Formats: sequence, C-alpha cells, structure tokens
Amino acid sequence: MDTSELERFFQKVRKGPRPDDCWLWVGAIGDDGYGRFSIRRDGRERMVRPQRLLYEHLTGRTLTPKVDLLHDCDVPICVHVSIGEDSHLFEGDDRMNMRDREQKGRAGRRGVLRRGLSRKQHAIRSRALRQVVLTIGWDRDAISAVLSGNAPSQPRLFDWP
Ligand SMILES: [Zn+2]
Repeated sequence: MDTSELERFFQKVRKGPRPDDCWLWVGAIGDDGYGRFSIRRDGRERMVRPQRLLYEHLTGRTLTPKVDLLHDCDVPICVHVSIGEDSHLFEGDDRMNMRDREQKGRAGRRGVLRRGLSRKQHAIRSRALRQVVLTIGWDRDAISAVLSGNAPSQPRLFDWP
C-alpha cells in the first residue's frame, strides 16, 4: 500500500483507546462478515479483506489463498495487525485452525464467547458492530453487548436471529 492507500484504509478503521484493543473496520462488509476494501492493482480494481492486506503490508509477506489469517479476538472486522505479541491476527494453516478451535472451545483467549455463528449471523453481527461504532464511537460496553448478543438498550440494531 502506498501512502494515499494507507490513508484511505485507516479512514475506515476505528481504534480502541488501549494498545491491545480491537481496530474495527467500518468500511464495506461482505456476506461472510469480513471487511472488504477495494484496491487498484495493474489497472484493475479488486476487493480484498482489509486485515489480510494490512498484514501483508506490515509483514512484507504474501498470504496465499491457502493460508488463513486467524483472529485471536474472534472479531471478524478487527484489523489490529502488528508485528509482535499484541497482534490480533496470526497466520495458521487449516490444521492449526482446527486445533485453535478445539483449544479455545467456547471462549476465545480474550474472553469473547464463541457462538458457533453461521456465515449469515457473522455478517449480521459485524454490521451491527460497525453500526454501533459509527453511531456512538468505539465504546467498550456497547461493543461487548454486540459481541455477546445482548444489547437491551437498542433492540432494533441487534435483532438477533
Ligand atoms: Zn481484535
């Protein structure tokens, strides 16, 4: 990514106040619940997942389609990539992915409950999260409420299937 692309990228990101908070993507979200970012390469427009693009940019590595980028925080629209321990994203192959799921069981390392959500539910959750962040900003309680599926104060936003 060049400077102007990076700038455009981070206009679509809202970072939490603490260094280890999620950086939430507020741009386009696909039907799989992951973000989408459009880039131009070789004169052609492409839609990519923002967390993968940032990961490649920061690490200088190329992620082949076979390599999954796993979210330690279980928040698909989080793009908090950094070089080192506090990164929320790390590479894993399919086997690691499975082991990761087994080890985590129902609770992620950061305490977010894994709900075994379907693709559609992931998309709904991600869009609800984006809505909250765009409406009231990066608010820890509101974000937790969306992630846990409990948001009594704003039932319309969180019409859970
Ligand atoms: Zn995160």
